[in-house]
Amino acid sequence: MQMVEIILVLLFGLCFGSFATLAIYRLPRGDGIVAGRSRCPNCLTSLAARDLIPVLSWLLQKGRCRYCKTHFSSRYPLIELATASLFIITYLMHGISLASVLLMLMSVPLIVMVMVDLEHMIIPDEVHLALLVLALGYHAVVGTPPGSVALGFVVMLGVGLSLHYGYYYLRGRDGLGYGDVKFFTIAGIWLGLYPILPFLFLAGGFGVLTGLLWRVLGKGELFPFAPSLALALWVCVQFPELVNIMLYIDNIQ
Ligand SMILES: [Zn+2]
Repeated sequence: MQMVEIILVLLFGLCFGSFATLAIYRLPRGDGIVAGRSRCPNCLTSLAARDLIPVLSWLLQKGRCRYCKTHFSSRYPLIELATASLFIITYLMHGISLASVLLMLMSVPLIVMVMVDLEHMIIPDEVHLALLVLALGYHAVVGTPPGSVALGFVVMLGVGLSLHYGYYYLRGRDGLGYGDVKFFTIAGIWLGLYPILPFLFLAGGFGVLTGLLWRVLGKGELFPFAPSLALALWVCVQFPELVNIMLYIDNIQ
């Protein structure tokens, strides 16, 4: 029975992974994600249903357009597989329920956010909106006290603005962009007050690693922060036990 559920979650994840690749391509270009059929970016032929099966179409056509044979990046099937993997981890942690489906779906805007920020150094507003709607839906389903959500929002708005203006004051230029500040407030809505410190600790740790990597790769001092923020939020929301352990260690020291 569990195997059947895992296969269903896998297929569900692959479909949303396919949606994520579409959003990653279209959102930074200002194109709607629901409007219009998918086209080959080279020959502009509308792709048929058989060209759009997650992972399989790419493998069967050896990563090429069926019509003009242009090469499609392997990042498309990789993003589809990554999304499906995150869905399966959520299933293994939280089982199948309306709440766990919302936890699976939160991975989709986070993956879009990471890929778009890596490529364009922006976080599209659609990502914030999707995360906000999913957070409010999740809290309504599990019955989180509204006060906790409101406190998370207010505290993280304060943290985000302090970091934004603090960096500007110290360095005389923008470090943490407004897109990141918006993300902080939505992370506060997801987390509530309690897991904020573990979130900031993880985001800071991942950020330092990304910054080092960016320098090693010779890409300059300013690195995209969204991957660290997204990973920290995902870990804190998906693994509440880990948050408890981190708070416990903090308390006994
Ligand atoms: Zn083509």
